[in-house]
Amino acid sequence: MTQLSPTLELAKDLISRPSVTPEDAGCQELMISRLEALGFKIERLPFEEVTNFWARRGDSGPVFCFAGHTDVVPSGPEEKWQFPPFEPVIEEGYLCGRGAADMKGSLAAFVTAVERFVAHHPDHEGSIALLITSDEEGPFVNGTTRVIDHLEARNEKIDWCIVGEPSSTDKVGDIIKNGRRGSLSGTLKVRGIQGHVAYPHLVRNPIHEAAPALAELAATVWDEGNEFFPPTSFQISNIHAGTGATNVVPGHVDIAFNFRFSTEVTADALKTRVRDILDRHGLEWDIDWVLSGNPFLTAAGSLVDAARESIRTVLGYETELSTSGGTSDGRFIAPTGAQVVELGPCNATIHKINERVRTRDLDDLSALYENILARLLVKA
Ligand SMILES: [Zn+2]
Repeated sequence: MTQLSPTLELAKDLISRPSVTPEDAGCQELMISRLEALGFKIERLPFEEVTNFWARRGDSGPVFCFAGHTDVVPSGPEEKWQFPPFEPVIEEGYLCGRGAADMKGSLAAFVTAVERFVAHHPDHEGSIALLITSDEEGPFVNGTTRVIDHLEARNEKIDWCIVGEPSSTDKVGDIIKNGRRGSLSGTLKVRGIQGHVAYPHLVRNPIHEAAPALAELAATVWDEGNEFFPPTSFQISNIHAGTGATNVVPGHVDIAFNFRFSTEVTADALKTRVRDILDRHGLEWDIDWVLSGNPFLTAAGSLVDAARESIRTVLGYETELSTSGGTSDGRFIAPTGAQVVELGPCNATIHKINERVRTRDLDDLSALYENILARLLVKA
């Protein structure tokens, strides 16, 4: 049997710890022991049931940070997996197991990239940091956002951040995410007057009253998007009303909806426009809003340049910038002023049965991370 690379060895070791959110299952201590050996100063930052750490090597700026999560989503029915999800196996060039792509492979690549980089450049410029949480796949209340609050409170800033989320499509680095859309959800209640369908003059049907307003919301163009973002999208995800009887007009209708929005609008502007439409239709309504993330964008700058240049040099192809996909912890880091990009392995199997990643991709990813560090933290 051929010897595995240090990146694959570490990735296997991490996958074999069943760290379903918010469990960490010892993954972070494994990373910490490797980082301490390189001279990193470690701060363990547990909040409630969530395990987090901040590690930093160097006292000066600029600060380059790798961000990621040790938690994984549940495996689903284990008998459907070709191999047990928490017993990593390498087969036909793929590393298989829960978290292989999202994102224990990236965590391993962070560590081995830093190990090689520090061996070559023990006196690098600035600082290298890692921000690791066990709560990215969960409620994201006590994870990255709390660590960022902690750093902000003492004015410790991140200049550049690579989030190891699986950004790639066909080959590693073909796509990097330089931003994400915002996500704003609402639960709308429209009230009417309940009564017997046979006495329409005694009722006010909230479904009838809401329908034209919903049609207008669905047809509204919220913005045109821009160079980096598709147009803002509004989607109704649920409508519920009724008492269960066909002869009763219900007293209210509940509607759930979500905006995925670009940097051309703000959450407040969207709220105002929704309220205006509801009022124009004369509805009696209220809404509970949940803003799960503002959009962020790192349009250009030294981090995007370094990532692009490294992909060209190490892998020999051009990368594409994209802001598609769901939200990520980048949304908590970018508002501090950091440049943030997501660069990780291919995402075809994330959260699925038989999650897997090409072994070659993890070694390439580690080489990329090392090359990016050299571009940013070594004086030419
Ligand atoms: Zn992830």
